Amino acid sequence: MSETYDVVIIGGGPGGYNCAIRAGQLGLKTACIEMHSKLGGTCLNVGCIPSKALLHASQMYASAQNDFAGMGIKVGKLELDLPTMMAQKEEAVEGLTKGVEFLLKKNKVDRIHGKGKIVGKGKVEVTAADGKTTVLETKNIVIATGSEPTSLPGIEIDEERVVTNTGALSLTAVPKRLVLIGAGVIGLEMGSVWARLGSEVTVVEYLDRILPPADAEVAKEAQKTFKKQGLEFRLGMKVTGVEKLKSKLKLSMEPAKGGDSETIDADVVIVAVGRRPYTEGLGLESIGVSPDKRGVIQPVEGQFKVADGVWAVGDCIPGPMLAHKAEDDGTAVAELIAGKAGHVDYNLVPSVVYTNPEIAWVGQNEEELKAAGVDYVKGKFPFMANSRARTNHETVGFVKILAEKGTDRILGAHMIGVGVGEMIAEICVAMEFGAASEDVARTSHAHPTLSEAVRQAAMGVEGWTMQM
Ligand code: FAD
Repeated sequence: MSETYDVVIIGGGPGGYNCAIRAGQLGLKTACIEMHSKLGGTCLNVGCIPSKALLHASQMYASAQNDFAGMGIKVGKLELDLPTMMAQKEEAVEGLTKGVEFLLKKNKVDRIHGKGKIVGKGKVEVTAADGKTTVLETKNIVIATGSEPTSLPGIEIDEERVVTNTGALSLTAVPKRLVLIGAGVIGLEMGSVWARLGSEVTVVEYLDRILPPADAEVAKEAQKTFKKQGLEFRLGMKVTGVEKLKSKLKLSMEPAKGGDSETIDADVVIVAVGRRPYTEGLGLESIGVSPDKRGVIQPVEGQFKVADGVWAVGDCIPGPMLAHKAEDDGTAVAELIAGKAGHVDYNLVPSVVYTNPEIAWVGQNEEELKAAGVDYVKGKFPFMANSRARTNHETVGFVKILAEKGTDRILGAHMIGVGVGEMIAEICVAMEFGAASEDVARTSHAHPTLSEAVRQAAMGVEGWTMQM
């Protein structure tokens, strides 16, 4: 049986489903193919959503253990009920994936369950779970197949003892000794969850710093705070293998700059060393598209067009591997296909690390500005001097705003502190409108709120910080 569509999207993650919904809204006849039974992709099933559900629950547990007494709240014997914690996480995932299904239906998108393969210009073959194949005919194909975790030589992932994010989000018991390979965003979020629930966490990182894309001053403050929370850091270390013994795991490593190797024991190892685009068996060769050596599909025209009538969005193309970036890509492509304008400014895509404290940034950091020879002025404000942070007993961290010398245009903002994942949006809006830091400094912010720290940092650029 053959059908003709305006758009066939391969992949039902944030890139794919947002593209499908927008295409449906724009009146395009649209199909979205997803090989898993649940829509939502990595983000909803094994990424953003389950990790945030566990980060929130584990933080409540940690707060009850460490912070309540200082607030005058006495609790009886605290007990962890891990199965219930995991069940509430699953409930959040289930509700949201069903929500995506509803939205596709509401916008008249055909949701097709199966594995999609491009078999020529305007042709996508779908193989269902029972092996039955159908070919869909379409004017436009959108590749939204996302990414998969990478590993290291000498490490065999089993998702039980040696795990990626998938296994780390579903452990059935709190491991006594947990080793985390990779001090990036995903690793630190997962390490924080299990440290709060009682694991002794050691973080092994090849580089001599944590969170490589973050501003160095923010990363340094973060490491100091995580260390106080009990995470042990072994920086500048190269992991060479993980041996699976019956009673334990033995992880071998050596200094990245060379030197004697050593081993550490663990009950669970989380491998969080990065992700690569997932394009396996996609039939890219049939339309003359070959990904680069990292597997990234490169556009040939504009940001998203990879061949005539073929577009790609999300984790499988250049740009930050983030759900909101994939969503923006998907929306832009649907609009381009409908003959409208569509563009995403990757410099204005915010990054958030949902640890405690949170870390957030947008735009360029100090190292990038220095490397580019840009003259800038810095305004910095500590949460220790913010009245709301003081009342909440959450005074760790600061807000830093960087503005161009002369024009005062905001070039970047870098924050660490409780709630900064929400506060970064203010700077995204300001930067979208090409604001000067004085615009933020002269905008009224409610008192007492944490967001006053953003205003004070902007005032700092102007040289007239007021609070304390
Ligand atoms: P995906 O979400 O990976 O979706 C791709 C979909 O395509 C999948 O469902 C896959 O099954 C399907 N597919 C692949 N090939 C085929 C095929 N041939 N046929 C049919 N279907 C196919 N980002 C954030 O912004 N915030 C966060 O807090 C955050 N937390 C994260 C935490 C973890 C642990 C991880 C791993 C990631 C996190 N991310 C976060 C990143 C985010 O999940 C991704 O950037 C986002 O999911 C990318 O969306 P996508 O649509 O490009 O791909």
